[in-house]
Amino acid sequence: MSTELNSPALPATAEAVIIGAGVNGLSAAYQLTRKGIRPVVLERSHIAAGATGKSGALVRAHYTNPQETQLALHSMRIFRSWAEQVGAGDPGFEPVGFLRLVSPGDEEALRKNVAMQRELGGDTMLVTPDEISFIEPFIRTDDVTIAAYEPSSGFADSNATAFGFARAAEKRGASILTGIEATRVLTAGGKITGVETVAGTISTPVVLLAAGAFANTLLGPLGIDLGLFPRRSRVVIFRHPFDLPSNRRHRVVIDSVNRAWIAPVTPTTTLIGVTIGDRDGTHPSDFEESVEQWYIDAAREALARRFPAFAHSTMRGGWTGVYMQSPDGHPIVDKLDQYDGLFVMTGDSGTSFKTSPAIGQILAEWIADGEPKLMDMTPFRASRFAEGQPWVDAFQYGESPEESIVR
Ligand SMILES: Cc1cc2nc3c(=O)[nH]c(=O)nc-3n(C[C@H](O)[C@H](O)[C@H](O)COP(=O)(O)OP(=O)(O)OC[C@H]3O[C@@H](n4cnc5c(N)ncnc54)[C@H](O)[C@@H]3O)c2cc1C
Repeated sequence: MSTELNSPALPATAEAVIIGAGVNGLSAAYQLTRKGIRPVVLERSHIAAGATGKSGALVRAHYTNPQETQLALHSMRIFRSWAEQVGAGDPGFEPVGFLRLVSPGDEEALRKNVAMQRELGGDTMLVTPDEISFIEPFIRTDDVTIAAYEPSSGFADSNATAFGFARAAEKRGASILTGIEATRVLTAGGKITGVETVAGTISTPVVLLAAGAFANTLLGPLGIDLGLFPRRSRVVIFRHPFDLPSNRRHRVVIDSVNRAWIAPVTPTTTLIGVTIGDRDGTHPSDFEESVEQWYIDAAREALARRFPAFAHSTMRGGWTGVYMQSPDGHPIVDKLDQYDGLFVMTGDSGTSFKTSPAIGQILAEWIADGEPKLMDMTPFRASRFAEGQPWVDAFQYGESPEESIVR
């Protein structure tokens, strides 16, 4: 067994067990401790071993529905006042500003979404190509007519965020056990009774499944099929070229025209992901962690189409991660009807780093107080698929959720 924090031995009982030490499981663990519940977190590998550790960690509020916007706005408050709200570690939040560029034909949807976000208190505005050039002088604007700009959004450090939640949770009495895989969720008479692990069994009335791309291995034996599938996501890092100044980070950009999302990880390097080739079958514990040359070439081309100076830039690394896709591209955050005491955060759909502070708070409210208090979670319910009512946004970009870039 490997340990990262002060891992005690597997206890015989726990008030609640959280499966998965990614950012969502750890955020929930921390929030539970604030409510006087000391959960046991089980992690098969190490903290942030899943999608969290690989995340591009864009932090912005631009969603095409009010519910995820609310999650993002509440989470951003926590990122901004981390010391008071969490009190351990530092999520590395950098509010460098964020631009959302959409494809021709989606301008009206963008207008509607910005209006919705402003009504919810979002710090966002519509900007013209001239204004975009002023905000970010290095990007090409001749192929867009309008964009959304969030001056106070940016990106964070996903590993540091998870570590911060872990330290804060542990300080308040949570046990985080790494190197311990949960092999089965135990039930009797329609209720959760415990968790079987590679190191023994824990009795508990409450399980939160936050196992990222591994969720099906635990949901399947419970007879629960939510249509989830693991999906690959790659990123490449490029060194800023000679023509770009090295004394400031550029803005974060989501660019539907080039199917790319771009963040300045340091003042001299930029991270880009392009949404191509990510639907091929993959398994979260059996995939190449590096990136292929064809993908590096595609990423460089997409980056240079938006930031022309990057046409001649040096590739400095990259990686592949796996997240869990839900059938409609929106997360599932719910107390499942099938077993009393079973909660899930799953189907993150590649977009739940930035919302994890709020998701953890909501799950802790649900577990400790019996209901989510921060907001109505009905749209995130697991039963929407069986009901034949998948979540479709009124003003999504592209013709399907698949076409929208949701980092
Ligand atoms: C390349 C990439 C870029 C991304 N960029 C962004 C972005 O810019 N913004 C954004 O908001 N989101 C982004 N995401 C998505 C975001 O990273 C995820 O939504 C988020 O990290 C999910 O966190 P999680 O805690 O739910 O799951 P995970 O981080 O996957 O954690 C699940 C954990 O559970 C553990 N586990 C699984 N099964 C078991 C078991 N049986 N027993 C014990 N432990 C188990 C795993 O080892 C893992 O550590 C990106 C994802 C990727 C891959």
